Order: sequence, then C-alpha cells, then structure tokens
Amino acid sequence: MKVLVGITTSDLTALDHSALAISSTGGFTVRCQGVLGSPAPAGQILHLSLDKNTDGSDAVKFRYDGKKLSYLTSQKLLIEPHKGSSFIFTSITREYAKGRSNPVYKGDLEAFVHKGKLRIGLRIDLDQYLKGVLQSEIPASYPLEAIKAQAVAARTYALRPRISHMKHDSINVCDSYLCCQYFGGTKSAPGENHLKAIEQTAGQVLTYNSQPILALFSSNAGGHTESFDNCFSDPDTKEFPPPALPYLKGVWETKNAKAPRAFDLSNEDDLRAFYAAVPFTEDRASAHYRWKVHLSANQLESHLHNNVNKLLKNPDSAPYIVAPKSGEFGHIGTFRALKRGVAGTIIELGVSTSSGEWIIKKELVIRDFFSVPSAGLKRLKSARVFFDQSKDKLGLLANLTISGTGWGHGVGMQQSGASGFAKAGFDYQSILKLYYSQVAIDKV
Ligand SMILES: [Zn+2]
Repeated sequence: MKVLVGITTSDLTALDHSALAISSTGGFTVRCQGVLGSPAPAGQILHLSLDKNTDGSDAVKFRYDGKKLSYLTSQKLLIEPHKGSSFIFTSITREYAKGRSNPVYKGDLEAFVHKGKLRIGLRIDLDQYLKGVLQSEIPASYPLEAIKAQAVAARTYALRPRISHMKHDSINVCDSYLCCQYFGGTKSAPGENHLKAIEQTAGQVLTYNSQPILALFSSNAGGHTESFDNCFSDPDTKEFPPPALPYLKGVWETKNAKAPRAFDLSNEDDLRAFYAAVPFTEDRASAHYRWKVHLSANQLESHLHNNVNKLLKNPDSAPYIVAPKSGEFGHIGTFRALKRGVAGTIIELGVSTSSGEWIIKKELVIRDFFSVPSAGLKRLKSARVFFDQSKDKLGLLANLTISGTGWGHGVGMQQSGASGFAKAGFDYQSILKLYYSQVAIDKV
C-alpha cells in the first residue's frame, strides 16, 4: 500500500511552495505522460516553480541545474529517483537532533499545481512512511511495547487523518506535526526498535465500528488525557466544540485502581491540587509533566496585542476570537479560565483589558496567543494551565506566572504515558485500549 505525503514549507505551516530546489544522490528522471528531457545525473539540481501557460492557465515550470532548457506543464510531474537513491530538498530545512538541515526522502516525487499553488508530494510504501514517522515522533530507546503502540496509532492516522487531505489537497497526509503527524524523512537509519515495532504490528490499525479511528496522540498530557471535543474544532465546518468522538474521551493515566482519583480537573481548585500532589500517574517521568512560565506585564503588553491581530487575520484561528464591543485590545488586566475540559484544558480564556474583555477559544489558539518570543516562549506547551497574577501599587498587572501540565494537546495516546505503562508491564494492545476507548485492533 502506497501513500502520498504532502511536503510542507520549512516552517511546517503550508503545503504551498513558491519555488523548490531538489537534488538527488543518484540522479533522477522526470516523467509527464512520457519521459521529459534526458535523465539527470547525481547531484544535479531540479528547480520547480509556478508559471503560466500561454493561455494564462497555471503551470509547473521546471529545469535542471545548468541547463537553459525549461518546461511548462499543467500535468502532474513524476520525478523518479535512479535506483536506490534519495532526494535532498535543498530549498527546505527541518530541525533534526543534530541541528537544522535539508530533509532527505526516499520514494517518487509528484509535483503539481493545486488551486494556483505549487505543491509536492512523496509517494512511498506505508511502512516506509511509518519508519520516518516513528523516527520523528518517538525515540528508539523507548520500550518496544510503547513504540509498537505508536506504530499502530501512526498507521491508523495515515489512513484517517484529522483533515480530509484527500478531498481538499489530493494527498493522504502531510508531513507536519502542526497538522498531522511528523514525518521528517529518512535522513538517518531507523532504530532497531522502530523496525521491530513496524514488523511486529504489520498491517494493524485501530477501528471503531469497523472504521479506522482518528488516532490522535501527543507527548505528555500531565496525568489525564483530554476529550477530543474540548480541544479540536471540526476542520470542515469550523464548529467548536465539534461532535464528540466516543473513542477519544479523557482518561486517567494510571494502572493503579487505588490511586487518588478524586480530582475534577475541570475545576481550577482541583487542577491546582492535582498539580501540587505527589505524582502518581504512569507518565510522571516526563520532563514536561509539570512546568511554569514567568512573564512580566511589559513582555505581555509588547506581544499579546500583535498576537491577537495575527490570530484574527488567520482564517484557522479568527473564528475563535471574540472581541469586546470596542474592538480594541487595551492594557491587560487579568486572565481567567471561563471553561475547562476534563483534563483541565482551557476551552475559553477571558482576558480583561482596559477596552473590554476578549475571549480566546480553543486549545491551540490559546497556546499561540501566549507566544512571547522575547521570553523564549514560542507557544505554551499546553493549555492545561492556571494563572497567578500579581499587581503593582496602582492595581495594574505586574507579573504573570503560568503553571501547566504536559506538552501537546493531550488527546488520545500519550508517548511518555505509553512508555510508563510499557515499563509497568503493559503490552501495546493494553496501552492502546487504555488511551482509545472501545476500539478494536484490526488488520488492513
Ligand atoms: Zn496534515
């Protein structure tokens, strides 16, 4: 089974490219209803950009390095690597363990025009894709049963991504963790446990009512996972909250039936008590389990105004920002959670300002709202947070401390929790059935 993986820009936010430069370790051949041009030798650079045909329609323009010859076509271009070679995207960078560098992919490339934009996808075997996802998503040093659970979740996700990429983009999945699951390519060899996990779960996927589930996962939920409808909107209708998914309900990450479960994390007092309690959940070894961020009023004032404007301009976040009558973002007063999910995730955040109260809804929008680069904060690690605010002598906000649990949206399987459960003797089926309620493990 093959999948077409959309390759996103260097910042992982878009499938649309203005231009691309690609080289190959062993040369390549370009096809478009027959071979175009002579086969390119190793190291030659292929340049792709968007252009217009003489009739004004959009076309992919491509040329090989050093050759004046260039082609325009409205058809899909197939770029095949010569035997055993890899493509290097020299115009794109990705973050790897050894720093930022160009991604490397094994497989066939397909370049095409989509709604007036240049796009590129990698067509590869599902298991080859999974190798890249596991390498990008979970360390090979994790226990094998945790990596097997991740392999089944990732295989399932490839068949049923959150967004209908096939309908909207003519691809199966994209390579970005901001949208789908992270696929950083095949720069280095996968670890032994990555390969074993794929082999030992060959063809296995999670189903509900015989259909592949939306197998969301993240790094660490801080002890209790969140329900899907408290974090995500419907990608087509933008409705928030969307209809609930019966298999993505928040659960405690504990194997001990006698563990204290008397916390109602949708209540802030309980969330604070749980934050301060002696850790008892299986994901507690994560460095992200509990964290704090300290921000001054000056840092907040210099970024949050811009952040609100940016979020209002972005069609993905604009529907979830409610402005006060004034439409102005005045001096910041206080932050308070208006509504929380079962893991404590803020569903609606109220920000009182001198020009009225703003309401910011939805997990990722709330995390992005707190982007304060001058404090080294790109976005909040999670929206499972509470606020401690101090005022100056005039009663204005002086300092804000944000205390949070975990890293990521916290819906579905948690990688550090899976590791903890595996160390406690759980097999991958038990781990998956704990995180995804009422599911079956079937073969594709
Ligand atoms: Zn995607």
